[in-house]
Amino acid sequence: MTTHDYDALIIGAGLGGLTTAALLAKQGLRVCILEKNQHLGGYAVNYESHGHRFDVATQALGGCGEGGIIQNILGELELLDRIRFLPCEPARLYHFPDDDDPFIQHGFLHAQRDMLCAMYPGFADEIHACYKVFGDIFAELQEIGAASGNPVFGFSRNFPTLARYSRFTVQEFFAELQLPQGLQVRIGARSGYCMLPLSKLSLVAFACTEMSYAGGAWMVAGGVSRLVDLLASFIENHRGRVVKRCRVGKLLFDGGEVVGVQTSQGETLKAARTILAADAQAILARSGAGCGPLLAKYQTMTRSGSYLVGYYQVPAHCVQDMQANIEVRLAAQALAGKRKIEVYYLLIPSLVDKTSAPEGFHSLCISLPLADESAPDKHARHLLREALEQLVVARYPRLKDNLKFLFELGPEHFSLMTGNTNGSAYGWAQTVGQSGIHRLGNNPRINGLYLAGHWTMPGGGIAGVMTSGKLCAQTVLAGG
Ligand SMILES: Cc1cc2nc3c(=O)[nH]c(=O)nc-3n(C[C@H](O)[C@H](O)[C@H](O)COP(=O)(O)OP(=O)(O)OC[C@H]3O[C@@H](n4cnc5c(N)ncnc54)[C@H](O)[C@@H]3O)c2cc1C
Repeated sequence: MTTHDYDALIIGAGLGGLTTAALLAKQGLRVCILEKNQHLGGYAVNYESHGHRFDVATQALGGCGEGGIIQNILGELELLDRIRFLPCEPARLYHFPDDDDPFIQHGFLHAQRDMLCAMYPGFADEIHACYKVFGDIFAELQEIGAASGNPVFGFSRNFPTLARYSRFTVQEFFAELQLPQGLQVRIGARSGYCMLPLSKLSLVAFACTEMSYAGGAWMVAGGVSRLVDLLASFIENHRGRVVKRCRVGKLLFDGGEVVGVQTSQGETLKAARTILAADAQAILARSGAGCGPLLAKYQTMTRSGSYLVGYYQVPAHCVQDMQANIEVRLAAQALAGKRKIEVYYLLIPSLVDKTSAPEGFHSLCISLPLADESAPDKHARHLLREALEQLVVARYPRLKDNLKFLFELGPEHFSLMTGNTNGSAYGWAQTVGQSGIHRLGNNPRINGLYLAGHWTMPGGGIAGVMTSGKLCAQTVLAGG
């Protein structure tokens, strides 16, 4: 019989792994979370430069409003009074190529829905039907994730919306409702968060993203690291261990069961359950035949794209009357070398959290989604940055000569930061075949092994990975 050092070992201290570990520790399990970096949080990290504090990979969080998943998890851990969320209202302002007026996306779903009904009065029923389906998908998916039994039995009876729509793209759903093109673009505005066009994006994935923002878009006051630190200290205060600078090399098997891990330094740690909360392809590849089917599945799946983000200082007076979160879709593609720019994001987080910029200045990020392309090299990055700055200045002339470049991060930096292959921002791409019930679940059917984070259901984004952490903890506790 194997003796265990821990009840649960968690690999990767991103918000998916930290949530799983904290919820298990709360239930009395002795947990240990292993993180390859000196910093915790994975993508959820702050960088400081010239007195500015940037949340480098979180623009806006869903699930922080009343009844939202992050609120619920922090409530369960009795941590709610230790953190403050700041609302981003409006959630985002969009410049669409076919419209001179910007489209303002309200933070709250009901306000958004009412505004769309006022814009398209002849389609009010369809708009309500649309959000009803989003809500039902979201609710059924949470339920299915928490079901420890085999949901295949009675699936269409118990999960009718998922049974009906699991194979739909967003575009197919909108076509079924016969929504006019302009309304499709506006209801589907958040597709950019999923880095896929409506024609490729899974309806289930989009519905989950949309519903996770139903209670508003938020930032963590003082920076997203506060949320990370709060969970890490909770774990340590509940007999858990948080080990930094510890890279896991492979899983250890005993008679077909995962019994722990070996670190890259050769240390062996044993546990009754091991939870992979990171891009696990390299670990699985080193772990032998027991992982064969899971590794084979990994190798057939496609990862989401990444971003190129430039971080800047601007004088406060240049941006005072702007919105904090802006998406610009270009009428004609701009070219930077061989690369095309069709859309970019302009973020001014210090308009929401003033403490993130020094007196007299604001922090600004220009962000370019890199959907399926290979990572741009240094020269290509330089061309892209120049082209993006020109586009931004053409739209906001008062920024001319006022953008002070601080630093930039691209796919290779994001990859180094987290081990996510190609700096994938959201785990598996949210196509129909990789979303909802088709995404990896928490239980990969290898004894002793569980999964969490943005590679698992429901998928990327902070609210998504914290949901996955909660579902994973439930699965472990149910012995599933
Ligand atoms: C530029 C950018 C912008 C984004 N914007 C938003 C946003 O506005 N809102 C939002 O909700 N989401 C956003 N996201 C997505 C969000 O940040 C991620 O989906 C989420 O943080 C992923 O969390 P995770 O816990 O699954 O994994 P990660 O954050 O990737 O954490 C995995 C952890 O595992 C560790 N690890 C990896 N391999 C090993 C190993 N072998 N041994 C030990 N440790 C290991 C890593 O170092 C890392 O700490 C953005 C992402 C990017 C890149």
